[in-house]
Amino acid sequence: MVLLQISEPGQSPEPHQRRRAVGIDLGTTNSLVATVRSGTPETLLDSEHQHLLPSVVHYNAAGDVTVGRTAYAQSAEDPLNTLISVKRFMGRGIEDIKTLGSQLPYDMVTGDGGMPSFKTVAGNISPVAASAQILRVLVERAELALDGALEGAVVTVPAYFDEAQRQATKDAATLAGVKVLRLLNEPTAAAVAYGLDQGGQGVIAVYDLGGGTFDISILRLSLGVFEVLSTGGDSALGGDDFDRVLAQWLAEQAGLEHDLNPFQQRELLMAARKAKEILSDQSQVEVSVAGWTGTLERQLFNSLVDPLIDKTLRSCRRALRDAGLKATDVENVVMVGGSTRTLRVREKVAEAFAQQPLVNIDPDRVVAIGAAIQADVLVGNKLGDEMLLLDVIPLSLGIETMGGLMEKIIHRNTTIPVAKAQDFTTFKDGQTAMSVHVLQGERELISDCRSLAHFELHGIPPMVAGAAKIRVSFQVDADGLLNVSAKEIVSGVEAHIEVKPSYGLDDDDITRMLKESFTHAREDMQVRALREQQVDAGRMYEDLLAALEADGRGLLNEEEYHCLEMALNGLNEIRHSQNHREIARHIEMVSKTSEEFAARRMNASIQKALAGHSLDEIEKDI
Ligand code: ADP
Ligand code: MG
Repeated sequence: MVLLQISEPGQSPEPHQRRRAVGIDLGTTNSLVATVRSGTPETLLDSEHQHLLPSVVHYNAAGDVTVGRTAYAQSAEDPLNTLISVKRFMGRGIEDIKTLGSQLPYDMVTGDGGMPSFKTVAGNISPVAASAQILRVLVERAELALDGALEGAVVTVPAYFDEAQRQATKDAATLAGVKVLRLLNEPTAAAVAYGLDQGGQGVIAVYDLGGGTFDISILRLSLGVFEVLSTGGDSALGGDDFDRVLAQWLAEQAGLEHDLNPFQQRELLMAARKAKEILSDQSQVEVSVAGWTGTLERQLFNSLVDPLIDKTLRSCRRALRDAGLKATDVENVVMVGGSTRTLRVREKVAEAFAQQPLVNIDPDRVVAIGAAIQADVLVGNKLGDEMLLLDVIPLSLGIETMGGLMEKIIHRNTTIPVAKAQDFTTFKDGQTAMSVHVLQGERELISDCRSLAHFELHGIPPMVAGAAKIRVSFQVDADGLLNVSAKEIVSGVEAHIEVKPSYGLDDDDITRMLKESFTHAREDMQVRALREQQVDAGRMYEDLLAALEADGRGLLNEEEYHCLEMALNGLNEIRHSQNHREIARHIEMVSKTSEEFAARRMNASIQKALAGHSLDEIEKDI
């Protein structure tokens, strides 16, 4: 087997640069963007110091688009052109839409490529395009706050989203001009925000009660991997329903039970929502609506919403049953969504799971925060917290050899777990350490591959170049964790490192890297041949120079010495050139010129050995 050579340590890895990455919670009612700054995750504010961007997009005939609160303000006068709850339509077919559309005031049409679209004055707008507008606003907000273009975003999706819905979300991000580092399940993001991924093992229930939807997810965490055991919920139950029951009660108090016009309805709903939100902090609230003024006690509000909360708890029990678990198996309950601010919700959830749910992190922001933490990890700002289960190696793994070349040890698409080893050797005489650079990718040059880790093997006994035998072993366990070790066979000195090979790569990266390896295959091969030749020439030069210095004067006459020196100088001048042929010619010439010298040295060393020197000394001397 050919022994490939590795250079001595010395080059420090490139300086660490912080990359701009965000987490985006693309919600049905509200959306947010968060990032990690100085190690702390935070949601980013708009110019009016608001975290929440209402997920509302308004279109006018002139083609102007507004997003957020200004768009929401138009929903009363211009409902057909004000798109709310577009998330419910993402990735859905025309059949699904029929039932959804009937709840909302839109004209749905079949748009480009058969995708259902909203008919507006500005033309047919697909749910993907509308979502892209929301994402665009958040990305701009982040780019302003972070003072530069984003490397990418982790965008959250409900755990129950199918492939089409996930793809639609990804498409929306692409349309908004932001790279999706990964789509992350909302409940997983919430668990990550609480650092539950750091806690080892256990079952986590994520209770997410938003404006119009309720989701319960039962997750199991093991070895840093979140597995969704079951999901459940109600896509038509949320804080808006709390508003409706309370508005109904207010209408009764005001004697307005029948024939409410849309304006009165709206007034009642807004008053109800306001009162509900105040009751999360106070035990009673003064309400003035439709000519009625009175006091609303929290107690009474609780009795109004209890049946709705009970409904969510039934979903929880069902999800637990689906996961084959009991409430007591759950180690942590995470609260997500604005409606979990309602104290009654917390009380009843605590009762159902026989434990206090986690509420320290703002339930509106917890998903975006978890996504930001994950994004930070994925772009490489923080090492060591990958949460991804791999089943095959997506890209080849290998190490750097002389000449900046990538030597593959485990090839792509190998199923894990897997272990492979290859032997390498030293580059220089007397080399006692070697730097192992672990890489991922399909290309020949290390500059075209992805650097995963560096480590050093010290304590190699000094030997001539090429004599040491260093076995580099790659082992990938079932969790996709790569363990690389290097061991010098003769002395037994060993070093190893653990890396996570999927680190920061999503499917797109992998596809791109593969594509590049195909399109550059020929050029890569040529470059590889040249680099190998340069390395050979360099090694020859260094070896001979050292030998000439040590024994040249003793073993060669003046003319021979001069001749070899000239040939060596010629090799030295040409060895870094891009001229493959010239380097080959010089190697050939030097090798001819030095034949005699090599033979004489060999003889001399044999004589030395016969004179009773130890083998070690001879090796050092050669
Ligand atoms: P979504 O996930 O659907 O986008 P959110 O998580 O933003 O929704 O939740 C919005 C809901 O949270 C609304 O019904 C809103 O009234 C409710 N909400 C916001 N603040 C409070 C509060 N202080 N008390 C009770 N409910 C609240
Ligand atoms: Mg939400």
